[in-house]
Order: sequence, then C-alpha cells, then structure tokens
Amino acid sequence: MTDCIFCKIIAGQIPAAKIFEDENIIVFKDITPKAPVHLLAIPKTHFATIQDIPEPEMGIITKLFSAIAKTVQTLGLCEKGYRLVINSGERAGQAVPHIHVHILAGRELAWPPG
Ligand code: AMP
Ligand code: ZN
Repeated sequence: MTDCIFCKIIAGQIPAAKIFEDENIIVFKDITPKAPVHLLAIPKTHFATIQDIPEPEMGIITKLFSAIAKTVQTLGLCEKGYRLVINSGERAGQAVPHIHVHILAGRELAWPPG
C-alpha cells in the first residue's frame, strides 16, 4: 500500500533500525519506545488486521511468530520475560493499519494494560 508507513519501511523508502529480516518478515525498533526493549514485528505483505488475512494466506502468522521467537531468543529476553501486543482497531489504539506485533521487555509490565 503506497500510503502505509510500514510498507514504506519494507520498501526501504523510510529508515528503520532493523533487528531481523527474512523474505517474509521484518522486526525493527519502535520509534517511540514504551519500554527499554520495544520492537515491532510485521509481515512484508500488507494486511490491516488479522481478520483481513484470507484463510489460504494465514500461514504468514506462523512465519511472523517464528521470527518473533528467534528474535526474543537472540536478544536474551526469555529468562526475565517479554510481552507481545497486537492492537486491532480504533478502541485498541491501532494507529498504523498494517499488522504489527509489539515486543516489549526490559522492565516490569503491569497487568491488565490500560
Ligand atoms: P499501534 O498503536 O499499535 O498501531 O502501534 C504503532 C506503533 O508504530 C507505535 O508504537 C509507533 O511508535 C510506531 N511507529 C510509527 N511510525 C514508526 C516508524 N517510522 N518507525 C518505527 N516505529 C514507528
Ligand atoms: Zn502496509
């Protein structure tokens, strides 16, 4: 999508601090971190939310979580713990309509979130 900021990151049109990349997925640093570690994991294919993924393409979610598993292990986040968040839609505060999983770590994380 031409006006999607995350598609522009994928296309290399705007910079991002990439932590992981393969043919399907990118993990990069959130530009306004809410925790000492705050990364975003995104599929390279544009879908606004998980319910927008056609069933035959749902395998991208496996690839997305596989990339996340590699990332949290590589960064040593597993022992103390980390949180994965997907905001979907207006009331959940989704600002960028391209599926992204927030990876938050490096501090105590309150529950429930606001
Ligand atoms: P959400 O509110 O769940 O849609 O989260 C969108 C996230 O994208 C926010 O945490 C923003 O800080 C982050 N963000 C927006 N633009 C950029 C960018 N150019 N590079 C990295 N992160 C971004
Ligand atoms: Zn996009």
